[in-house]
Amino acid sequence: MSDSGTEPDAGLPEADTVEAIQQALVEWYETDHREYPWRQTDDPYAILVSEIMSQQTQLDRVIEPWEDFLDEWPTVESLAAAPRGDVVSFWSSHSLGYNNRAKYLHEAASQLIEAYDGEFPETPKELQELMGVGPYTANAVASFAFNNGDAVVDTNVKRVLYRAFDIPDDDSAFETAAAELMAEGHSRVWNNAIMELGGVACGKTPKCDTAGCPWRQWCHAYQTGDFTAPDVPTQPSFEGSRRQFRGRVIRILGEYDELTLDELGPRVRIDYGGDSGREWLDGLVADLADDGLVETDRQRDKTVVRLRQ
Ligand code: SF4
Repeated sequence: MSDSGTEPDAGLPEADTVEAIQQALVEWYETDHREYPWRQTDDPYAILVSEIMSQQTQLDRVIEPWEDFLDEWPTVESLAAAPRGDVVSFWSSHSLGYNNRAKYLHEAASQLIEAYDGEFPETPKELQELMGVGPYTANAVASFAFNNGDAVVDTNVKRVLYRAFDIPDDDSAFETAAAELMAEGHSRVWNNAIMELGGVACGKTPKCDTAGCPWRQWCHAYQTGDFTAPDVPTQPSFEGSRRQFRGRVIRILGEYDELTLDELGPRVRIDYGGDSGREWLDGLVADLADDGLVETDRQRDKTVVRLRQ
């Protein structure tokens, strides 16, 4: 519990706020994200290959093998027609981990030709029928190739949901929250965006401010200063207490339409005054305004602060 009032509410907020949350994340993702070549295609075969390769290999190290693989076997037909030994040797010569993955991928290609006429099925359920394709991979292919997936729930997504909305560490609670948060029919952009958030901003040591996390104004962890998560059992270290005070300003302003700086200061810190007085608060609020989180307004001789809508 923070020392300046009650905890923010847990769980997902009201529907109209959920809409603002969705929009903020998609805008953040679309403005800037890590570019991987498989994010620029909707070819299910190319996406399946990237998903199978990235099960055991970091994304940055998948780019080259993925490109080489598609040069060698550009279509599902060409892969199905290749000798299995060639696919397995490719896998081991590119250090892609368990060779069984290569065998399964080759088997899945044959299955696609024989049972599906070379056409990929489009739902997560049907995609799981393919050899070596589990629920996560099936959903990824359905999302990224056909924009037809469910909300992804992986370790990164759980961490984000736990921190941002205080979702309890329970698989079905994560699944329900993730599904409610994703706008129907937007699995391609949404799953990419939320995984990017978990990978770039909300990692084990969160980079809320430096990565410009679009959820700071709603985030439970940002507002309470507790950044633990199911896979982060102890508080990660980060750059001092300034972030905690920024979070506290956001939380307090969430409880009021607006406050003057003189009303805000003592609510933000119990020792408000002196070195941690008005000048300090001006700087904190100016930073938050630069980041687009709050707005200030001169009213008579007072500065009023409110959350930016
Ligand atoms: S504000 Fe920080 S803790 Fe909250 S979701 Fe964003 S990166 Fe994660």
